Amino acid sequence: MSWERNVVIKSEHEIELLRAAGRVNAAAHGAVRDAIRPGVTTQELDAIAAEVIRKAGGKPAFLGVMGAYPYPATITASINDELVHGIPGKRKLREGDIISIDCGTILEGFVADSAFTTGVGEISKEARQLIEVTEKALEIGINQLRPGNRVGDVGAAIQEYVEGLGYHLTREYTGHGVGREMWEGPQVPNYGIRGRGTLLRKGMTIALEPMVLIGTARTKVLADQWTVASADGSLTAHVEHSVAITDGDPVILTVP
Ligand code: MG
Ligand code: MG
Repeated sequence: MSWERNVVIKSEHEIELLRAAGRVNAAAHGAVRDAIRPGVTTQELDAIAAEVIRKAGGKPAFLGVMGAYPYPATITASINDELVHGIPGKRKLREGDIISIDCGTILEGFVADSAFTTGVGEISKEARQLIEVTEKALEIGINQLRPGNRVGDVGAAIQEYVEGLGYHLTREYTGHGVGREMWEGPQVPNYGIRGRGTLLRKGMTIALEPMVLIGTARTKVLADQWTVASADGSLTAHVEHSVAITDGDPVILTVP
C-alpha cells in the first residue's frame, strides 16, 4: 500500500471517537501495569487487558492481525531484549525484568494504539535509564506533531536525542497514522531529515512509537515468527501514544 496516499484527515467528532477508544486502551494499560510483578505470566496480563476492553464495549485491535499467522492475543508483551510483538504465554516475569506492553482497542470503529515499558520489581540503573530515554524520546517526538512540520522533523528530533545519548533506534519498525485502520498513512519513522517527508496537518492522528535499543539498531525475528528482539541480546524499550494534530498543542488520545 502507499502510506502517503493513505493519510486520513479526521473531523473533530472523529477525534472524539478516537479519544474514547484511547481512554479504554489506557484503562487496559493501567490494569495490566497494576498486575505486573514477579511471578505473573504474560498470558495472565493478556487476559486482564482483554477483560477491560470487552467490558467497555471495545474489541482488541491486535487479535487476528495477519503476520506469518494471525496474531493470537490482545496485547504484545516483550521482555528485556524483546523489542516488540512478543506473544503472551506461560513465561513468568522475574524481578529485574523490563517489559513492554503494546495494546490496541477498537471502539465504535476507531482504533487506539499505545504502549509502555516498565520494570518488574527492582531493575538495574541501565534498564531504568533506557526506559527514561525512550519515554523522553516519545515526548520530544509528540512535541513536533504540529501543523507545518513534516514527518522528517519528528523523526529527526527523536533520532538526535536518542542517538546523541549513544542509544540505537530500529530502522525496521515505525510509527504510523491511526484511525479507522490501525495502520494508516503517513509512516512515521523514529529517524529522519528535517524538512523532509509528509507535511503534517490539523486532523491527522499519529501513533508515534520510539523503539530504543542499547547495543545495536539491528533486530531479529524469533522462532515464533512474531517476536522481534535485539540482534545482540541487549535490552530494549518501546513506548507509544496515539496523538491528534490540532491548531494548538498536540493532544494525546491514549491517556485516561
Ligand atoms: Mg502499538
Ligand atoms: Mg503502533
